[in-house]
Amino acid sequence: MVEGRLYDGVTGHPHAVAVTFDPAGIRLSQESGWSDEIAAADLRRYDPGPDTLRLGRKDQPGWRLLLPLESATQVKSLLGKEERYGRWVDRIGLLPALVVGGAITAAVVAFGYVAPHWIAPHVPMRWERDVGSAIVGDFGDLRCRNADGQKALEALVERVSPGATQGPDGLKVAALNVNVFNAAALPGGYIVVFKPAITETNPDALAGVLAHEIAHVRRRHVTEALLRELGIGALVRTFAGNVGANAEQIVSLSYTRQNEAQADSDAIVMLRRAQVSPRPTGALFQRLSKDAPQYSAQFLESHPASAARAKQFSASYDPRVAYRPALTPGQWKALMIMCDGQAPS
Ligand SMILES: [Zn+2]
Repeated sequence: MVEGRLYDGVTGHPHAVAVTFDPAGIRLSQESGWSDEIAAADLRRYDPGPDTLRLGRKDQPGWRLLLPLESATQVKSLLGKEERYGRWVDRIGLLPALVVGGAITAAVVAFGYVAPHWIAPHVPMRWERDVGSAIVGDFGDLRCRNADGQKALEALVERVSPGATQGPDGLKVAALNVNVFNAAALPGGYIVVFKPAITETNPDALAGVLAHEIAHVRRRHVTEALLRELGIGALVRTFAGNVGANAEQIVSLSYTRQNEAQADSDAIVMLRRAQVSPRPTGALFQRLSKDAPQYSAQFLESHPASAARAKQFSASYDPRVAYRPALTPGQWKALMIMCDGQAPS
């Protein structure tokens, strides 16, 4: 029996499940008593890289099971060779896929896993725009729509990155009425901030969190992570408009350590230019590194080593800089209440 993480394609967060292998398939169970059996015939491998072991279900497109690498042998004897590029490419064959997917597909297949870093900057932002917009659309009623709050949120983005929301490739930021501490960059320059990242922080710390996510967008880390994690088949599907199945995974994409370090150092530069003190961001990361796991698990998973990061932010404080609050009290108040008065998540 091994521990796996299940994305059920319905709820937004992974569930811890116990996985047992038997010759005909797998059995999943949870302490709550829930269990499920899936026949080998309904499973497929979906391993975008050598470091991950993922299974998908033929009958449920959004379903993903992440397994520890130690179960590789059992998976192999159950399902055979990996479907490295995903079902779409497997079904129609690699060559037609290359033709259909064009230059990006060819490049990804040719360069494997070094490629995302090189290719991401060349994927036009407008290709991704529809994807990001569809995901934000998926959140539907969870989106906090208060106009003054939205204005304040955009003002905060502009404060740390002047001009960022302008132009055709401008950033779009949305607050979501979801009670998990998280903020995420989505494809197409969308940034989502979950409610506690507003109500349980302060303007300067939220400025730091936003600056970090802006850096992920600017550096094309989102595209890079999409290429790396979902593999080429999913990328082609995603750009072709079949978004829903992968929405949860896209929100919880994980970046490489280099990506994270770069986003942090970019954020520190942005805060300094904006004359926003980095100390509250440092204090926030410090707090998150200690808080109960259920509170911040998802954020920590995509943003590891909070204590070390906290120090880096705090250390960048410069007593010679005339720091100013990131928002006026009026703007912050509007932001604090922007998710209230809506159905709880
Ligand atoms: Zn990050």
